[in-house]
Amino acid sequence: MKKDTIGFIGLGIMGRSMAANLMKAGYVLQVYNRTRAKADELVAAGARWCETPAEAARGAGVVITIVGYPRDVRDVYLGEHGVLSAAAPGTVCIDMTTSSPVLAKEIAAAGAERRVPVLDAPVSGGDVGAREARLSIMVGGERDAFEKVRPIFEVMGKNIVYQGGPGAGQHTKMCNQIAVAASMLGVCEALVYARANGLDQQRVLDSIASGAAGSWSLSNLAPRVLRGDFQPGFMIKHFRKDLGIALEAAREAGLDLPMTRLAAELYEKTGSRFGEELGTQALYLLYSEGES
Ligand code: NAP
Repeated sequence: MKKDTIGFIGLGIMGRSMAANLMKAGYVLQVYNRTRAKADELVAAGARWCETPAEAARGAGVVITIVGYPRDVRDVYLGEHGVLSAAAPGTVCIDMTTSSPVLAKEIAAAGAERRVPVLDAPVSGGDVGAREARLSIMVGGERDAFEKVRPIFEVMGKNIVYQGGPGAGQHTKMCNQIAVAASMLGVCEALVYARANGLDQQRVLDSIASGAAGSWSLSNLAPRVLRGDFQPGFMIKHFRKDLGIALEAAREAGLDLPMTRLAAELYEKTGSRFGEELGTQALYLLYSEGES
C-alpha cells in the first residue's frame, strides 16, 4: 500500500478540480469515473486510469469518492467491483459525495469489518471552492482516521471540521443545505422584487451583498443570474436530492421544516420546467415567469 497514492473516484464538476489540486500537491492518483472522457485531462497530466472502483482502490493508501447520489455511493463502495472489495486493511476511504447519513453509517460499519475506516466528508463552497481549494469540509467517522488524512483535506479545503462519528459529516451538510435553500429563495425573491420596482438589479446587489443580507449565494450566484448564466455550478438535480435527504432525516427526527419543504417544491417545478441540469440559480426563471 503506497501512502502517497490516492484512488480518486468521481470526476465531475467537483471531483475533477479536487483531483487536480491533489496532483499539483504531489500525490499520485489512480482515477475512475463512470464516463471515461472526464478523466482525459487528469490522465494527460499523469493520473493512471482504472477500469473499476476496486482497481482504483487497490494499492492506494487513501481512496476519495465524490459521485452523484446515494445509490452511486452504494455501488462504488459495496458493489461487486467496489472499493471495499479491494481496499487493504488500514486504507482510509473518504466519501465526499453529499449522501445519506444512514448510508454513511452502513458503509462505515462494512469498512470497519475489514479494518478499512470510511469517513463521510461532504463539502461546501461550490465549483469555485473546489477549483480554488477553498472548500469547507465537514467530517464524520473515526477520529484517528480523520487525523491521519487531515493533510489531504488541507490540500482541497480551508475550513476542515471533525463533527463526530459516522454520519455526522452528512448531517452537518444537511444543515448547510437547509440554510442554503433559504438563501437561494431569498436571493431570487430580492432580485425579482428589485426588477418589479424599477430598480437596477446590479446596483441593488452592490448595496446589499456586503450587508446583513450577504451570503455565498448572493455573492456568487446572483451575478450569474444577472449575466443570464444558468449553467451549473451546482445542478438542480443534486440540490433536489439533498433537500429530499434533509426532509427524510428531519422526519426521522420528528421535525417539520416548512421552508425546506417549500424549497423542495419550488425546485421540483424549476427542474421539470427548465431542466434538472441547470444550476440552482435557475430558480430565478421560475420566479420571473410570475412577473408581468
Ligand atoms: P457531477 O458533475 O454529476 O459529478 C459526479 C461524477 O460522479 C460524474 O462524473 C459521474 O459520472 C460520476 N459518477 C456517478 N456515479 C458513478 C459511479 N457509480 N461510478 C463512477 N462514477 C460515478 O456532480 P458534482 O457537481 O461534481 O457533484 C458531486 C457530488 O458533490 C454530489 O453529491 C453533489 O451533490 C455534491 N456537491 C456538489 C457541489 C457543486 O457545487 N457542484 C457542491 C457541494 C457538493 P458521469 O460523468 O458518467 O456522470
